[in-house]
Amino acid sequence: MTELRVSGWEPGTAETPKAAAAYVEFRSVLKSFGAATVLKDFSLTVPKGQRLALIGPSGSGKTTILRILMTLETIQGGSVWIGGAPLFHEARGDALIPASETYQRRQRRHLGMVFQSFNLFPHLSVIENIAQPQRLNLKRSRAEAEARAMELLDSVGLAHKARAWPDELSGGQKQRVAIARTLAMDPDILLFDEITSALDPELVDEVLSVLRGLSNRTDLTMLLVTHEMGFAREFADRVIFMEAGQIVEDATPETLFIAPAQDRTRQFLRKILPHTR
Ligand code: ADP
Ligand code: MG
Repeated sequence: MTELRVSGWEPGTAETPKAAAAYVEFRSVLKSFGAATVLKDFSLTVPKGQRLALIGPSGSGKTTILRILMTLETIQGGSVWIGGAPLFHEARGDALIPASETYQRRQRRHLGMVFQSFNLFPHLSVIENIAQPQRLNLKRSRAEAEARAMELLDSVGLAHKARAWPDELSGGQKQRVAIARTLAMDPDILLFDEITSALDPELVDEVLSVLRGLSNRTDLTMLLVTHEMGFAREFADRVIFMEAGQIVEDATPETLFIAPAQDRTRQFLRKILPHTR
C-alpha cells in the first residue's frame, strides 16, 4: 500500500499538550459510499472528558461519524485521531501508513458504542452477555469477568436479572444491559447512537437516568446522537447540529437550544420541538 501524507501531522505530537487536548479528532475526513459522498472535508475536535451531543435530521451523517470511530467504516481521505494517535494509520518515520489490524484493534480499545438495537446475544444469559466479551477480548478469568459484570449490572439497577435471558427483559432493561456490556470493556470514549429510539416512551427515562448517572460518576468522553432534545440540553457540554454531512452550528446547549445563530438550526428545532418554539 502506498504511504499517505497527512498535512498538519508531526511525529511526536502525542506528547504535546495540544494533542492531549484534542482527544477525538477528525481531520478533513472524506467518507463516501460508492458514488455518494457523506462526509467531505469533515473536521471535528473533541477534548477529553467532553459530553458532546450530535443532533440533526436523518441522513445527516451522525451515525457514520460514530461508526468511523468504531472502525466499522473505513475513510477515503483525511485522518482520525484518538488520544493524539491516528486510528486508520500508523506512524512510520515522519509519514503515516495504513494501520495494521493489530494496531487498529489496540486503538479501538479506547472506544465503546451502544446502538439503537441492543444487539444482546439471545443464547447467552444477561451476565454471560457482559462476561464473555471480557474473557475473549481482555483475557479476563471467568471469576474476574463475572465479578465485573455483577458490579456493572448493579450500577444499572439490574443485578437481580443476572441469570435472566435477554428475551425475558423489557427494551429498557435490554438497553441497560447493553450499556453495562460496553462499560465492561473499560473504554474511555463512549458513543451512543439514538439508544432510546427503539424504546416505548415509558422506558426512555430509565435508560437516560443510567446515562445521567454515568455522566455524574465518571469523566469519560461521550458522544451522544439523540432526538431527545431535553436530555441533550441537560447532558451535553456542547451540541453540534449537522445537516448533509456538515456542521451547521457548534455551540453550548444554552446557545444552541435557546438562541441558535443559524436559521437552519432554528428550523430544525422548530420541527422537532413544535410546542416549545
Ligand atoms: P444519520 O445517522 O444522521 O441519520 P447516517 O450517518 O446514517 O445519517 O447516513 C448518512 C448518509 O450516508 C445517508 O445519506 C445514508 O443514506 C448514507 N449511508 C449510510 N450508510 C450507508 C451505507 N452502508 N451504504 C450507502 N449509504 C449509506
Ligand atoms: Mg443515525
